[in-house]
Amino acid sequence: MVLIFAERALLTDGWADHVRVTVVGGIITKLTRDTAPVDGDTRVSALLPALSNLHSHSFQRAMAGMTEHRVAGRDSFWTWRDLMYRFLDRLTPDQMEAIAALVFMEMQEAGYAAVGEFHYVHHHPGGAPYTDIAELSNRIFSAATTTGIGLTHLPVLYTFGGAKEQPLAAGQLRFGNSVDRFSELLQAVRANARAMPADTRVGIAPHSLRATNPADLARVLTIADGKPIHIHVAEQPREVSDISSWLGARPVEWLLDNAPVNADWCLIHATHMTAEETERLAKTGAVAGLCPITEANLGDGPFNGPGWLAAGGRFGIGSDSNVRISLTEELRTLEYSQRLRDIARNVMVPKEGSVGEFLYTNAALGGAQALGRNAGRIAEGHLADLTAIDLTHPTLCALGAHQILDGLAFAAPDTIVTDLWSAGRHQVRAGRHILRDQITKVWRRAVKDLVEAM
Ligand code: ZN
Repeated sequence: MVLIFAERALLTDGWADHVRVTVVGGIITKLTRDTAPVDGDTRVSALLPALSNLHSHSFQRAMAGMTEHRVAGRDSFWTWRDLMYRFLDRLTPDQMEAIAALVFMEMQEAGYAAVGEFHYVHHHPGGAPYTDIAELSNRIFSAATTTGIGLTHLPVLYTFGGAKEQPLAAGQLRFGNSVDRFSELLQAVRANARAMPADTRVGIAPHSLRATNPADLARVLTIADGKPIHIHVAEQPREVSDISSWLGARPVEWLLDNAPVNADWCLIHATHMTAEETERLAKTGAVAGLCPITEANLGDGPFNGPGWLAAGGRFGIGSDSNVRISLTEELRTLEYSQRLRDIARNVMVPKEGSVGEFLYTNAALGGAQALGRNAGRIAEGHLADLTAIDLTHPTLCALGAHQILDGLAFAAPDTIVTDLWSAGRHQVRAGRHILRDQITKVWRRAVKDLVEAM
């Protein structure tokens, strides 16, 4: 049993004072307001529902800072991808696990209780499967176990190197599976997930329309089994034109016309949509998986926030390339991308109200939906995905209750997080992950070896 006493807690009807939270088996079983702490309670300043980070490729964290060098005529998303492929020529299972552990730890310290790992590196360099076809998924499971983060594992179907069924390029061979081999992999992953904590989920992720074809996509959806379905879509203008010329429709338009898109789906990026696509997609109940820092880093372009919110669209936040893991910076980058485009302030809130509160509370709900987690709010019967922040911090100490989440989203450093529970597992205490030193030491060794081998 876990017992937490919070000076303030953000409950479903707003801020409440002196709240005691009882957690049994990872689930919030009791909330008591206007009460006093009891000896043995973990005492915190302000308790929030923790966010689920809905989109991560953890291994890409090891490339952070290596792709910001301009080469005349060659700086683009696609040259970034070339470096990623060189990286993948060397990456070993041990290194993948070490990198994922650091990434998951950093996510928890930033206030994320769970992660959707969109996992597409499956095989040896060259494309031969490991003896255990799920070897690299097992390494993600190990990293999740080490850190205690809540995991929604999303094995990726990646069959083609580009639109119109182009063969995989050399750098993509580690990703490749037919639908049959993907089914075999998925079975192994689902079996192994049974040994993981009860909040672990396994979904599926057709990588993108360009990495599959219509017949294979239809087939793979039959084995999704009501679990989360994630897909990259409309991230770059070139992807939109490639898909349009191949399939006769823009990517989001094609999906809406040809796939049963609903609330089980999470469409990652969805950056380049027409107004009609935006409205139609919002009305399906699918989550838009927004990755503001990565989208800014890769020069993807801004999301159509006003159109999405006007249509009642749901969204969550992902750290994608993990070039920088910062929950507060994701929220403010999302809003600032809108302000810069529209020459306006306070864009990401429908009608009126606090932008920080709208972004935070909706990203909590949307992220939980996308990962199939019964979380995103502090309520009895929900997973204890909880984060605590320090209201005495200089950034927040002068703010009223209605301004706290604006202070968090726009002004605070992530070090304002004092505690983090993933399904009741208390992994961050006094601002540090409980295994920070050990995880960091293994990471240093792994990335040194990796870079030396390149
Ligand atoms: Zn991605």
